[in-house]
Amino acid sequence: MRRLNYYPLADVPFPLVFSLNYPFYFQIQVTERCNLRCKHCYVETKAVDMDFSLFVEAIDNFRELLDLLRVRGTVYLSGGEPLLWPWIWDAIRLVRRKKIVPRILTNGTLITPSIAKKIKKMGVKYVQVSLDGLRENHEYIRGKGTFRLAVMGIKNLVRAGIEVTVMVTLTKRNIGDIEALVKLAEILGVKRISFQRLVPIGHGEELRNLMLSSKEIANIMKRLLRIETKVNIVKREPFWGIIYKIPGGCSAGHIGFALLPDGTILPCRRLPIPLGNIKENSLIEIYFDHPIMKQLRNRNLSECSKCEYVMYCYGCRGIVYALTGKLSGRDPQCPKDFLAHH
Ligand code: SF4
Ligand code: SF4
Repeated sequence: MRRLNYYPLADVPFPLVFSLNYPFYFQIQVTERCNLRCKHCYVETKAVDMDFSLFVEAIDNFRELLDLLRVRGTVYLSGGEPLLWPWIWDAIRLVRRKKIVPRILTNGTLITPSIAKKIKKMGVKYVQVSLDGLRENHEYIRGKGTFRLAVMGIKNLVRAGIEVTVMVTLTKRNIGDIEALVKLAEILGVKRISFQRLVPIGHGEELRNLMLSSKEIANIMKRLLRIETKVNIVKREPFWGIIYKIPGGCSAGHIGFALLPDGTILPCRRLPIPLGNIKENSLIEIYFDHPIMKQLRNRNLSECSKCEYVMYCYGCRGIVYALTGKLSGRDPQCPKDFLAHH
């Protein structure tokens, strides 16, 4: 393992992390256990919990990376369903003690009023709940009775004073629900709503035929731009770079890592290329030295390099990889040609 001070920051070829004020994120899949069996889930449903000692190691390791890069950090506690993990509260306490912001990614169905209050009391300010459409579409993916429970969970969180983000995974099936979901989010007092594309990995692979075309994506973006609402519609998906032209786009290789319950490190939860294991490797060494991380930062290697939006967008490398088996190449869902007259 190389020592910290041998890593000159200038080694990072495209230092998104320094030019933008985004926190560096670490999405930690603390358990594969889940009370639901969603059709698009990328988690293979084995009842595997991360050991708490491994979590502690991972947080220490992450803290070192944050200190070296001099950036703020966020830990996303995800699953499975993270609220089923036995050490969830200890983990939140530890993350906060290390001056890292904890966020919970949940299906919302287990959030009773008392769990919501506990989350608040533990100092968690942000929780993300997945909704995959209005009742019919949501339950097509997530199972009968889950819509009401998720909405109850959101209400309980909002009542407890927690900022809720609703996360919607878009497919051909639920795009008709977009405006209604934004309205619902507003009524529920949700702060943000975020729309992401389906990545056909894990169980999501069976839904490949529901993936959106470039034209459909362009139309969705135009529709989202027309919606007037108090809810913040999150525009972090790389394609928004085509419109807003803010340097960034796909952050894999730049400002994030993901971790699986057995310690496997990935560049992003939606990009399942193992980079090492937290038991043996430091995030610092992987961040600076791993060829995949270098490749992700080198935007000259891809077909996208010829595009005028390459520094703002670069597509979703997770989707490129899932659909083509390669890391380079243009995002097959690129909507650029249909946004020309925007
Ligand atoms: S060609 Fe690549 S960088 Fe350009 S808009 Fe499409 S996906 Fe984004
Ligand atoms: S690979 Fe996709 S999901 Fe991951 S950071 Fe890039 S755009 Fe986001």
